[in-house]
Amino acid sequence: MRREADNNLSVCQLLVSFIPQTGSHDRTREQADDMRLLLVEDDPELGRRLSDRLRNADYAVDLATTRSEAEDWPDLDKIAAVVLDLGLPDGDGIELLRHWRAAGVSCPILILTARGSWQDKVEGLNAGADDFVVKPVRFEELQARLNAMFRRHMGKRDSALEAGTLRLDPIAHMASDNGEDLQLSRKEFALLHLFMRRAGQVLSQADILEDLYDLEAERELNTVEVLVGRLRRKIGKQRISTHRGLGYRLER
Ligand code: CA
Repeated sequence: MRREADNNLSVCQLLVSFIPQTGSHDRTREQADDMRLLLVEDDPELGRRLSDRLRNADYAVDLATTRSEAEDWPDLDKIAAVVLDLGLPDGDGIELLRHWRAAGVSCPILILTARGSWQDKVEGLNAGADDFVVKPVRFEELQARLNAMFRRHMGKRDSALEAGTLRLDPIAHMASDNGEDLQLSRKEFALLHLFMRRAGQVLSQADILEDLYDLEAERELNTVEVLVGRLRRKIGKQRISTHRGLGYRLER
């Protein structure tokens, strides 16, 4: 753990020096839009900078700064992936990882740590991590590894979805209705993806906000109304029914 603390400064400096992203990553940004990450990182400066960079790349980011905070995270089932530091002030990230896997947490987990020996990597991967990245790392590499991890994970359990004449492929990032491509914004795509994952269920505005937006982002229920309205215009008003006081449902 000491080794990691010593390295934190250089990691921060590296992150500061990252070149701002340009539009050349648009496709990656679109794919990341409905990805909600839990970042477990105790270094406040690194946690803040990394959160900012990930949000700029259109991830929704929750930040936990201790093992106990991460262990009791309330919405773990809504987390698409975890980025896990190992040297935490109140315990070891490896132990937390083992605890999660034993408890049936199945989302992909990427270890991001300053511990870089082969023994550390073997231990981390054997404990249930999907990838192991050693600090300091270029943000671009971290992002590429996250995307690759998502592709593997989604390919396994979440390939093309269908509901009536609607079809959505989260990997190719394409949606169609009756074989005709739908032109959707990132948030519209993310909302349709959520509806299709849970077709036939009534989703409350809070469910939708939690899936699509950061905990810390401004949350206004009318955001959801506006977004649902926009999606209805693209896929047909009757496809999404309103249930007063309960929420919305995608009709099959
Ligand atoms: Ca640490």
